[in-house]
Amino acid sequence: MNFELKRSKNDETTVYSAPSGAEAINQKQNSGQQSMDYEKFFTDKIGDLKEEGRYRVFADIERKAGSFPEAVTHRDGKVSDVTVWCSNDYLGMGQNPLVLEAMHAAIDSCGAGAGGTRNISGTNHYHVLLEQELADLHGKEKALIFGSGWTANLTALSTLGALMPDCVILSDAYNHNSMIEGIVHSKAEKKIFKHNDAQDLERLLAEYPLERPKLVAFESVYSMDGDIAPIEEFCDVCDKYGAMTFIDEVHAVGLYGERGAGICEREGLMDRITVIQGTLAKGFGVVGGYVAGSEAFVDFLRSYGNGFIFSTSMPPGVAAAALASIRYLKEHNELRERHQERAATLKRRFTEAGIAVMPSVTHIVPVQIGDAVLCKQASDILMDKYGIYVQPINFPTVERGTERLRFTPTPLHSDADMDHLVSSLKEVWSMLGLKPAA
Ligand SMILES: *Cc1c(COP(=O)(O)O)cnc(C)c1O
Repeated sequence: MNFELKRSKNDETTVYSAPSGAEAINQKQNSGQQSMDYEKFFTDKIGDLKEEGRYRVFADIERKAGSFPEAVTHRDGKVSDVTVWCSNDYLGMGQNPLVLEAMHAAIDSCGAGAGGTRNISGTNHYHVLLEQELADLHGKEKALIFGSGWTANLTALSTLGALMPDCVILSDAYNHNSMIEGIVHSKAEKKIFKHNDAQDLERLLAEYPLERPKLVAFESVYSMDGDIAPIEEFCDVCDKYGAMTFIDEVHAVGLYGERGAGICEREGLMDRITVIQGTLAKGFGVVGGYVAGSEAFVDFLRSYGNGFIFSTSMPPGVAAAALASIRYLKEHNELRERHQERAATLKRRFTEAGIAVMPSVTHIVPVQIGDAVLCKQASDILMDKYGIYVQPINFPTVERGTERLRFTPTPLHSDADMDHLVSSLKEVWSMLGLKPAA
């Protein structure tokens, strides 16, 4: 479409209007103006990223079921072995034999795809079973599954914020993009409170009359720093001001609590949260997202949430695999214990080696580099010379100046893997002149 640039009366505002039909064609031929060079625009935008050192290169890896965290990487036509140190398959459930067996069986019995949206022929019995399992996991009446955790957050928050009359949404400063997008899309009034700061949340909540609908959105585990929200304090404040609570437990489900329901389970707070959101893609090792809450809430979201209504449901094989993974993790707390031990050991070993670990209280082991170019260099050398794969994390995932390597040790990373990682990192640190910990 050809857009005409018009000046409004006061000459301050530029107004765009789309001419139509013959008028547009005429203009195109007579104006002598140049149309936009779209390819140049794309290339220039990419050039900006390269200049800043944060142009993203995807590592082309082949995961090997049965050998995780070992994998094969394809680079410049060459194939080599790597140990993956940055996977969100935190417990290696993506290769669990019972999960694979369930997936195979469901594919053989139901086929590849679901065949429709949930409303029109796409509700498979595995979806129903999975939602029952998730509701039980979180001690809620109902659960609702989505194609991804991102879609679950987007749909739930945008629908709540758009439909609750005059709703105000209070959002933690470090919330994940999927929550931010949902809140923006809802067009509700938005207030951002300081990260993990219950006092700041209270200050903001106190500005609104009690009867006004308020939604407070935050995460349990923040995945780039590895810190945890003061959930109980948040709940107390929300109760006081009549706010509903929405927690993203994406980096905690499968990993914390006696049955793997997350931090709220560990802290005995599940019944104080209105909506618990999670993913099936990280700790559970498959793909998909969900929310759990009251029967009325889930029925509401099922009926009004566009990201739920208008999208084909997940393949039955995926639902069956997720179901098997959740059931397995409910009964295998020893895997969570081993996971925590591995993370604590890696933090201790980095610290002993003079590599400064950011202050994480979870399974996430972030090591700050503070420079996008150096961070990428460190990652490249680790991959090329040492067979270690850890992706550089840069803006917009984290703030500029806090670029980091984010290690995620799993129960399957051995002591020998850690020996190799620590000695390699020490060499790379001296190669790049990175400062050892004080
Ligand atoms: C990864 C992530 C999501 C999105 O989940 P997917 O299932 O990967 O789409 C949501 N919230 C947080 C905090 C995440 O890190």
